[in-house]
Amino acid sequence: MVSESLLEQARNLHGHVCPYLVLGLRASEIAFERLGITRVGVAETMREDVVAIVEANNCFADGVQVFTRCTFGNNSLVYLDTGKTALTVFRRGEKRGVRVYVLSERVRELLQPEVGELWRRVVAERRGSREDAERLHEAFEKLGRGMLNLSEDFFKISEVEVVEELERAPIFESVRCESCGELVMKPRAVLKDGKWFCASCAGVPVQAVVGRGISTVKVPFREVS
Ligand SMILES: [Zn+2]
Ligand SMILES: [Zn+2]
Repeated sequence: MVSESLLEQARNLHGHVCPYLVLGLRASEIAFERLGITRVGVAETMREDVVAIVEANNCFADGVQVFTRCTFGNNSLVYLDTGKTALTVFRRGEKRGVRVYVLSERVRELLQPEVGELWRRVVAERRGSREDAERLHEAFEKLGRGMLNLSEDFFKISEVEVVEELERAPIFESVRCESCGELVMKPRAVLKDGKWFCASCAGVPVQAVVGRGISTVKVPFREVS
């Protein structure tokens, strides 16, 4: 069962409590139990010992980060852009891992029709008032709390074999952009007429994680002062 204190940590990160946030916590707990992982602390996070792979950038991913401590910043969270709500966990160097996929249709049956209607208005169509959002949150928090010990029947749980070794985060040399003077990781710098530039100054598109997943985008801002 996911503890109350983890739920509060998840709320702090995510800003609200919702069913998929709790599903991320619960899926992580199931994966850790199966793999016998009891703690991910200083050494494990610094050495990137445990890897968590999520397959969509939704609320679920924040629950995963809080529970597993595999995060965007510590390079132990891998975002595999397949568009599914699933988590895979393994220890580096080991062949066996666990994948936990959310059976969303089954989860949807827990949603009362009026809450579904509210969700459509506030989240899908973005035309709900602040009061609608608060009412939705109340319903979501209730639903989420009821999922802290959600039965494994709401997940497809499988054992996986690790077939590709994922490299740990490499340490790259930096180069200075000729135009803005900022340091850039060399593999991201652009060489033009023998000079290095950052992607912003070179005006080239870059890869970004945005709402729709991993996409190629133009740098969406420019410095004005
Ligand atoms: Zn959420
Ligand atoms: Zn630059």
